[in-house]
Amino acid sequence: MEMIKQPLGHNITCLDAQYVHPGIASIYLLEQDAKLCIIETGTAHSVPYILAALEAQGRSAEDVEYVIPTHIHLDHAGGAGELMQHCPNAKLVVHPRGAYHMAHPEKLQAGTMAVYGEETFRQLYGTLTPIAEERIIQAEDNHEIDFHGRILRFMDTPGHALHHFCVLDSLSKGIFTGDTFGLSYRQFDEGGRNFVFATTTPVHFDPDALLSSIDKLLALKPRQMYLTHYCAIQTSQENIAQLKKSVQAFVEIALAAKNSGENRQRLIEQQLLEWIVKESYSINNTLSESERRRIVATDARLNAQGLEVWLNRLEPKARGV
Ligand SMILES: [Zn+2]
Repeated sequence: MEMIKQPLGHNITCLDAQYVHPGIASIYLLEQDAKLCIIETGTAHSVPYILAALEAQGRSAEDVEYVIPTHIHLDHAGGAGELMQHCPNAKLVVHPRGAYHMAHPEKLQAGTMAVYGEETFRQLYGTLTPIAEERIIQAEDNHEIDFHGRILRFMDTPGHALHHFCVLDSLSKGIFTGDTFGLSYRQFDEGGRNFVFATTTPVHFDPDALLSSIDKLLALKPRQMYLTHYCAIQTSQENIAQLKKSVQAFVEIALAAKNSGENRQRLIEQQLLEWIVKESYSINNTLSESERRRIVATDARLNAQGLEVWLNRLEPKARGV
């Protein structure tokens, strides 16, 4: 079991969740007065890496005070229940809209299993473990936690998911953005620039809300964005513009395919993949074409699924939803 982690300053460590492959999903460990706060949990399969990382820092699971998934999508919160069982002193901090599912994950598990099938579900996520309600703190917009003098402020950020918050950290002046500030894989980095694009995964994608949430984060003038997918980036005029442009482009691709009948989702997926790959050349000139496609193929598929759900929401009568 090889642990992959990177210190980021301000007592923040980025730990790889080892979700599908390394380099895809991050978990952040914040240490203050020998106590720990863990932002994002990865899946149940990520928990052994978290425990090993604590041990490597000379800490134990008893030192964990907060476990904070930015939203309840399973690459962010799938391991929360399992992790909470190992951390007897920890409270879970979650968006009010996600709290019920963390205490009663049966429906979340059944729903995801219906999409992936049981075998793939187990491979990807393991098992969802319920968390006792009295251990759950529901963080409304602007809720603050004083983590040993370090203030964590929770901001409601719908657009990717209705159960999504971002966390502003007073020490680093950075924001743990979950999926709100998009996806940015380090393989695309070149010359200090990075490639960022939006994630529209099912089932709550709302472009206007997402753009407002992005502006809400930027208004705080963060020094850095701690993305879940993947690790920390600095904001720049370039990557902010790129992220917003991708929201627009994905919406346009979906709307243009609106009347394509049964092949609609597949068509959207193909066009998203082409758009993302093409745009990536504006930042990176060294990766091979096949490598680019490999890195973003899953995101193009998930984004297409989310845009399909969004289109269905726009036309409820025609589709009988
Ligand atoms: Zn998500």
